[in-house]
Amino acid sequence: MKLSFHGADREVTGSCHLLECAGKRILIDCGLYQGGRELDEDNAEDFGFDPASIDYLLLTHAHLDHCGRIPLLSKRGFKGEIITTAATRELARLVLLDSAHLQEEEASYQSRKKARHGQAKKITPLYSVLDTLNCTESFGRSADYNQVMELAPGLRATFMDAGHILGSASIFLELEEQGQRRTLLFSGDLGNADRPLLRAPVTPTQTDIVVMETTYGDRQHKPLGPSIEELYQAIEDTFKRGGNIIIPTFALERAQELLFYLREGKEQGRLSASTQVFLDSPMAISATEIFGRHHECYDAEVAALFRKGRDPFQLKGLHFTRETSESMALNNISSGAVIMAGSGMCTGGRVRHHLKHNLWREDSSVVFVGFAARGTLARQIIDGVKRVRIYGEEIPVRAHIHTINGFSAHADQAELLTWHRRIGTPKQTFLVHGEEDVMSLFAQQLEDTQVEMPMRAQSYDL
Ligand code: ZN
Repeated sequence: MKLSFHGADREVTGSCHLLECAGKRILIDCGLYQGGRELDEDNAEDFGFDPASIDYLLLTHAHLDHCGRIPLLSKRGFKGEIITTAATRELARLVLLDSAHLQEEEASYQSRKKARHGQAKKITPLYSVLDTLNCTESFGRSADYNQVMELAPGLRATFMDAGHILGSASIFLELEEQGQRRTLLFSGDLGNADRPLLRAPVTPTQTDIVVMETTYGDRQHKPLGPSIEELYQAIEDTFKRGGNIIIPTFALERAQELLFYLREGKEQGRLSASTQVFLDSPMAISATEIFGRHHECYDAEVAALFRKGRDPFQLKGLHFTRETSESMALNNISSGAVIMAGSGMCTGGRVRHHLKHNLWREDSSVVFVGFAARGTLARQIIDGVKRVRIYGEEIPVRAHIHTINGFSAHADQAELLTWHRRIGTPKQTFLVHGEEDVMSLFAQQLEDTQVEMPMRAQSYDL
């Protein structure tokens, strides 16, 4: 039995781990490296193994940094079976098609730029829409939560709630090879136990080896309750001033969570009945439709709503604006609108238009509810710059800026430690999916286990 690491090693993106056991080769996740030019090159590099040799790909969830290299894996010869939950399967299709579109657009933009400078070389995308359609054929059996799946003799897999996004799972493997037995748990990305919508993370009571994420292994999150209050207050204050609220939104999970809170806010009278909410993102609209189909993923409260025939993501005054013309018409609304649009970090997408029309207005507000990487427009605004450039125009920042930090989809240090304690005393703990300094701090908190922080391409006999 052998475990090797091919992404998210002392970094946060590109999750990809290879397990060899009982004559089979199993990948856990095949994610994209994200966050700049250098990492783009990493994506195009060799995987570090032969894609054609892989029998199974077990997918923890549909975020791009966990599934984003699957079309490339197929393009390079992968013929195995992809196994994941039904919700992840649908969300991954949406996310991968969107990613392929973006890759194609970026490649043709770069090709045109090179042609202008007299270079004939065409840039090819990492993968195309067609590659993505081809790879979706490899999605085989759907995994039900807590149901043991026999993949091959000596190889059993169980998907368990990870509480991170819809369909997300930790994957527990029971392995047997030449009389040797091992249990191995991959955390995937973990959510917080007290978040709405999803069930809390589930673990086996004991595992020999664990591979776990450490994204926020060094910090505690703010509590959720006050963050929701802050959101309601920001909306109320802005409407009193006569402005709009712009919320740059990630399409998966965060958008649906916000719809859930906005509905509750209206039902509890915390938000005025006349509040108009616009979900101005075709991807978030499609994701919300998928969320409406997978009742099997929710906690008791949300499942009960569905059973009563109520949709937790629908509220009075909610508008889905899929068409570009509908999105442009929002520019004519001067007050009383909550506009949720992508991208979450304002690096592209429709939110840039809404910022252009509202950032300069003292009566409007921009509310940030997610992570903003260095160098992005979102980060500049959060950091308090006085002017920004959007579509070639200088826009003064006069709107009220709110940064609400309690909405994270990731477990914080305390939650990660609780999760680790619940799996007994694993002999070995491999830390992945975190910055190196964060991982080191987290490693110091762990007791009675041998901690490893693998490098890319490093492998271990189990
Ligand atoms: Zn994730």
